[in-house]
Amino acid sequence: MEQFNPIKTNLTQIKQQISQAEKQFNRPSGSVKLLAVSKQKNLADIQCALGCGQIDFGENLVQEAVMKIKGLQANSPQPVWHFIGNIQSNKTKLIAEHFSWVHSLSRLKIAERLNQTRPESLPPLNVLIEVNIDQENSKSGIDANEVLTLAQAVSSLDKLTLRGLMVIPKREGSWDEKVLTFKAVTNLQQQLNRAGFKLDTLSMGMSNDFTAAIAAGSNLVRLGEAIFGARVPKR
Ligand SMILES: *Cc1c(COP(=O)(O)O)cnc(C)c1O
Repeated sequence: MEQFNPIKTNLTQIKQQISQAEKQFNRPSGSVKLLAVSKQKNLADIQCALGCGQIDFGENLVQEAVMKIKGLQANSPQPVWHFIGNIQSNKTKLIAEHFSWVHSLSRLKIAERLNQTRPESLPPLNVLIEVNIDQENSKSGIDANEVLTLAQAVSSLDKLTLRGLMVIPKREGSWDEKVLTFKAVTNLQQQLNRAGFKLDTLSMGMSNDFTAAIAAGSNLVRLGEAIFGARVPKR
């Protein structure tokens, strides 16, 4: 008998829920990509998800991530690594060297440093601008009305490719309120595209709100606990 494997079971269930939500909200089938957020989880858990066909992984602490990335360097298939955490300027080089995507860009100075330190041997780093849509002062991301200016500046950096927007809305609120919040980000992306940008990625939705995000137009959901189980409470 096959041994019970929670990560495999969770991944199967989540993928079903994602395709159900795609159907329910008239999104093209297969249009929503799953990012497995593996922060605080060990190599064995990541390898398990890789073995189930999961390719994209998200991390929020640079040192922890680089250890895992090095630990899986010989793995086939190769994971695609996304940095989703707060970016300190003294960590930009490590991020530029080890990741394919950055979801949490909100300052031009950080963009410039990522651009300067992205190795020539690697393709451009895919970046998303993080929007602070609820205008919570404590949160990361930039105000919606500053996104256009940052997007224009980032577009001129040749080792970065601006791919879209990311948001972490406040945790409170009903499902319908969440949809409205996410829709505001979708609208912002559409505005940017009408202004000439070619943004194709909306990183919205976590374990507790991903169906609302899909209803509102997300095409990349970032799920941690729903795949890997509970994490220890934040340090
Ligand atoms: C931790 C984290 C996630 C995943 O959160 P879950 O609630 O575990 O799904 C998604 N996005 C970001 C930016 C995170 O830090």
